Parts: sequence; C-alpha cells; structure tokens
Amino acid sequence: MNYKDARILRDTLLIIGFIVIMAGYLFGFVCTIIGAVIMLSCLIPDFLYNKCPHCKKRLGRNEGIFCQHCGGRID
Ligand SMILES: [Zn+2]
Repeated sequence: MNYKDARILRDTLLIIGFIVIMAGYLFGFVCTIIGAVIMLSCLIPDFLYNKCPHCKKRLGRNEGIFCQHCGGRID
C-alpha cells in the first residue's frame, strides 16, 4: 500500500466513522461506540503507510508535493 491509498483509506474510515457516530443518535449508544472504533481505526493506515517513498519518514499532515524531511518529490 502506498501513501496515496493510505490517505484514501484513512479519509474513508474517518467519514464512515463520523456517519456511524451520527447514526448513534437514532440507533443507540452501541452504534456510537462502533462509530468511534471505526473512526479511530483510521489511525492505522496513517501510521503504517503514510510515509515518504524516499526517506520512509511519516508525512503527517503534509499534503504537499515535497517531503518535509528530505525534500523529495512525493506526488
Ligand atoms: Zn522524505
């Protein structure tokens, strides 16, 4: 998995988790907990795969085209 797929998966899990948490208002507290778990699981692809392809350091919130650590092009 490259960093682009990891970002897509992270954002998808975050949005789905948020929707499930909001659905917890209608379907009960268990639904809210499930949504929170889905939302927190977005951290897994972010920590494991959101890395620079050159220096392998975490990109964090960097959504640009250059790595903030080594200056390598990441798009
Ligand atoms: Zn780098």
